Amino acid sequence: MSSESVIEIENAVVAYNGATALSGVSLTVCAGECVALIGANGAGKTTLLTVVNGFTQLTSGRVRVFGATPKGMQAVRARRRIGYVAQAQPIDPRMPVSLLESVMTGVYGRLGWRRKPTQRDRALVRDILDSLQILPLAARPLGRLSGGEMRRAMIARCLAQEPDLMLLDEPTASLDDASCEAIMRIMEQAHRERGTTMLWVTHDLDALPPCCTRTLRLRNGALAEDLSHAPACKRKDP
Ligand code: ATP
Repeated sequence: MSSESVIEIENAVVAYNGATALSGVSLTVCAGECVALIGANGAGKTTLLTVVNGFTQLTSGRVRVFGATPKGMQAVRARRRIGYVAQAQPIDPRMPVSLLESVMTGVYGRLGWRRKPTQRDRALVRDILDSLQILPLAARPLGRLSGGEMRRAMIARCLAQEPDLMLLDEPTASLDDASCEAIMRIMEQAHRERGTTMLWVTHDLDALPPCCTRTLRLRNGALAEDLSHAPACKRKDP
């Protein structure tokens, strides 16, 4: 039996002050799929991810994620299930937040601010930091991390949230080979063990885990090619 759809986008248009970033994108991603999104600079990849996580509003068209439109209580619940690793993390170096505290916000993103993390949550975070080789940096303020350490910290935060859908904007860009391999391994494991759905922006198809079996190309804001056979999945009723 086919799985349910997690992302349903119909004819999405996004215009920023008249300039079109997305022009009529339609896309369905099924539960448990790992989809790679490629395209030249400015093609609209980040815009598409931020349409899915609700940061960017459509100029026209429709988007549903876990059956929810971007507004209302359903959207709040759906957003808890979405983890997002942004391409750039503008951080004020004076911000008095340690790497560990920042990663714990991923746990709170899942639990809500009123619930306390359990022993299991703390052990999970420790394991994630360990597998990304940033455990020794846990107490270090974010402003004193290198670019590659910061990127791994943001990936750790996303993993700590244990999201059902991960939106990854070039998560391995500018990382060394060992870090890149660690991330591919950990994402493959999330996919295998939790069935996490992923939409993964990359410029390097070799830096994708084996679970990524479908590749989409955006060109000038339009979906130019689906370089694989998209599986059919059931529409999720609102
Ligand atoms: P890259 O590979 O360089 O990260 P991308 O494919 O992710 O590019 P987007 O960041 O989605 O591309 O941008 C798509 C288009 O929308 C670009 O022409 C960009 O200049 C424009 N754009 C993006 N954000 C804004 C904004 N907030 N205001 C105005 N234009 C924007």
